[in-house]
Amino acid sequence: MTDLLCISDLTAIEPPQENDTDMMFKVEAFEPPERCPECGFDKLNKHSSRKQLIMDLPIRLKRVGLQLNRRRYKCRECGSTFWERLISVDEKRSMTKRLLKSIQEQSMSKTFVEVEESVGVDEKTVRNVFKDYMALKEREYQFETPKWLGIDEIHIIRTPRLVLTNIERRIIYEIMPNRNKETVIQRLSEISDRTYIE
Ligand SMILES: [Zn+2]
Repeated sequence: MTDLLCISDLTAIEPPQENDTDMMFKVEAFEPPERCPECGFDKLNKHSSRKQLIMDLPIRLKRVGLQLNRRRYKCRECGSTFWERLISVDEKRSMTKRLLKSIQEQSMSKTFVEVEESVGVDEKTVRNVFKDYMALKEREYQFETPKWLGIDEIHIIRTPRLVLTNIERRIIYEIMPNRNKETVIQRLSEISDRTYIE
C-alpha cells in the first residue's frame, strides 16, 4: 500500500477504495513528532485528531485523495498543543507538494479546466496555484537589466502575453498579463537603466 503512494512521511493504513475515476487512501503520519516545537521536550501525549482531505498525484490516470487522520499533540513539559507537521503536504492548498508542482507545470500549457479534470482539484484552486507561481517567478526574475533584450509573446491559457527575455543568459526577464501596445510601452519605459540594453 505504501509503495503505491511513495510519500516519505505518510503511510496508507488500509487498501484504497476506488472506482473508475478516483482512488481514496486512508493515511496517517509515518512517525509521531519527536519533540515539542515550543520547548524541545521529547515526551508528548496524543491530544486529539481530525480528518483532513489532501489531494495527491493521480495514479494510473485516477484522481487520488488522501484522507489524513491528523493528530494533535500536547507537550508534557510546557503544556502547549500542536498539530503534527508533514513535510510532504502544502498546507495552504491541502495537497501534496508534488501535486502542487505538477499543477504549476501543467497550468503553463493546459487550461485550468483541463488541469482540474486530470487531478481532481477545483478550477479556482488551480487558478490560484498558477497565480502564486507566476508571482513567485516574477519576484525571482526581477533582477539585472539584460544587455540583449528579447521581446516576444508566449501563449498561457490561450492568452498571448508579453515576455521579455535576457538573451545572453537565456532566462526570462518579465512576463506581462497581455501584449497590448500600451503594456509593452509602459513596461519598457519602466526599465530605469535601459541605456544598458545594447
Ligand atoms: Zn513543550
